[in-house]
Amino acid sequence: MPAQGPRVVSDVPALRAAIAEFRRAGERLALVPTMGALHAGHIALVEAGHRVAERIVVTIFINPRQFSANEDLARYPRDLEGDLKKLAAAGTDLVFAPNVETMYPPGFSTQVSVGGVSQGLCGAIRPHFFGGVATVVTKLFLQAGADFAMFGEKDYQQLLVVRRMAADLDIPTKVIAVPTVREPDGVAMSSRNVYLSPAERRVAPRLHQVLQEIASAARQGKSVPLAIDAGIATLKPDGFGPIDYLALCDAESLTPIIRLNGPGRVLGAAWLGATRLIDNVSA
Ligand code: AMP
Repeated sequence: MPAQGPRVVSDVPALRAAIAEFRRAGERLALVPTMGALHAGHIALVEAGHRVAERIVVTIFINPRQFSANEDLARYPRDLEGDLKKLAAAGTDLVFAPNVETMYPPGFSTQVSVGGVSQGLCGAIRPHFFGGVATVVTKLFLQAGADFAMFGEKDYQQLLVVRRMAADLDIPTKVIAVPTVREPDGVAMSSRNVYLSPAERRVAPRLHQVLQEIASAARQGKSVPLAIDAGIATLKPDGFGPIDYLALCDAESLTPIIRLNGPGRVLGAAWLGATRLIDNVSA
């Protein structure tokens, strides 16, 4: 028997009406925000949602406000039909797939801007990015009023930005972190991996390996700046470049550090051809 597909709604009143039915039955709700082109990493968020809530709402929206003019908005992969099949198999009750005009009607002028954790790393390189993410996630949180929202550690800085935003704005949706799902060779799953050529895909695991090498140096009390320099020296001949950053940071504040004095996180972002890869590991 094929799994029953999720109900798909595309406007906010229909979303709220469907959620109100769950609420009347006393059911808890987990929200899974995505940009579609779903893979096993997204499905892990759905599965984690099942562990805390009776109902799962997945949102699929390619948010133009988190892309700058020269980024990949136009070619970002789209596959609603394939996504719905995967979500049916994973057990999803409701999909919210709004269009751009629904999320940003004419006259839309509000931006949610998070300080602190959004400022370094990707925030420094892509200044438009976290404002766009925080704005859309705030809207999704207020539209759905979910008990839980599932976010991947794959986008570690984003996870902390969303957590900060929800705490600061007293939004009572609990943000839950889900570990990164990787390919067998260690590459973090990402919708953007389809951009990689076969040759690029072969060297892509180097980023994760370098992050682990830096984390291991930090744990052994070895020089982190030297480990980062060694990482850059291995990535460049493999064709990575520019390397936006490789950094050891405090796992909570994301302040760059050179030695561990509590939980740390090693984060990296690097271009491989026309594809920007990001990844991170704990230290
Ligand atoms: P995206 O569709 O890329 O915007 O991602 C939607 C959500 O899925 C975000 O919370 C991501 O962190 C999460 N995610 C993406 N890739 C992975 C992965 N490989 N493992 C775990 N979570 C992921």
